[in-house]
Amino acid sequence: MDLYFLGTGAGMPTTRRNVSSLVLRLQEERGTFWMFDCGEGTQHQVLRSPLKLGKCEFIFITHLHGDHLFGLPGLLSSRAYQGGVDPLTVFGPAGLSEFMETAFRVSDTHLPYTLHLQEIEPGEIWSDDSFRVTALPLDHRVPSYGYRVQELARPGKLRIEVLERMGIAPGPVYGKLKRGEDVTLPDGRRIAAAAVLGEQIPGKTVAILGDTRPCENAVRLAEGADVLVHEATFMENKRSNAHEYGHSTAADAAAIALKAGAGKLVLNHFSSRYKEEETLVHLLAEARAIFPSSVLADDLLAVPLAMEPEQ
Ligand SMILES: [Zn+2]
Ligand SMILES: [Zn+2]
Repeated sequence: MDLYFLGTGAGMPTTRRNVSSLVLRLQEERGTFWMFDCGEGTQHQVLRSPLKLGKCEFIFITHLHGDHLFGLPGLLSSRAYQGGVDPLTVFGPAGLSEFMETAFRVSDTHLPYTLHLQEIEPGEIWSDDSFRVTALPLDHRVPSYGYRVQELARPGKLRIEVLERMGIAPGPVYGKLKRGEDVTLPDGRRIAAAAVLGEQIPGKTVAILGDTRPCENAVRLAEGADVLVHEATFMENKRSNAHEYGHSTAADAAAIALKAGAGKLVLNHFSSRYKEEETLVHLLAEARAIFPSSVLADDLLAVPLAMEPEQ
């Protein structure tokens, strides 16, 4: 599991950065990836990346501002040409369905796969036996959501030595116990899976937030997360502009990460006024002064969930 950033600029694309989109790659866990936001030109960024659109399982839209949304009709249209035949669900705030249905109707676009558009309410929006996704509203100029993706704890390793001591030979019984199922042996003995499994393996948690001023729900979404992806549109000297327009500074993002006890902060969504790389070094320094485990997102950059030793 890791993050891969497709676009990390705010508002409008520049030649250096495209507008918002990132993916959570779940190659080992599911053989798929999940996309968060889809600003204009995202499909071009996908073409420049190792990602294959056919592997996109879900798309989560944080809010309906164009720099997070306008790439969606084109990307969904192209997906079918890139091996995307499986059904796809797009989650997002109210208005998502109206936008997409209008775009497809007036352009006479017909997708050869099933597209579900799901307008979300605060709380759990999706889960299966290995992942749970919750969404909470943030504080922006339009309704904006943050998503918390939680990988559920997996059963621990099967303690073979315990089974051998009990005289249980390898076979289908091992598989059942490994999956956490209790079994009854042919001789009538009942074996509780918990008795022969090691400690549960904890899952990873990733919080990916839409545009926002600093707010309490940002802390709740990032509580104990391995990684928090938070916007850092401005530096400290533009703090009042940031808050006026519904955004955060890098220091705001760092304060949220600190309060939430997150493991790592990835700063994202930089104002197009910051053209020089040196400027972003200062923006990063402002975050690191508060939360040292901070890194900068960049277009076409893979970011591991844990901090790398050299950083
Ligand atoms: Zn934005
Ligand atoms: Zn916005």
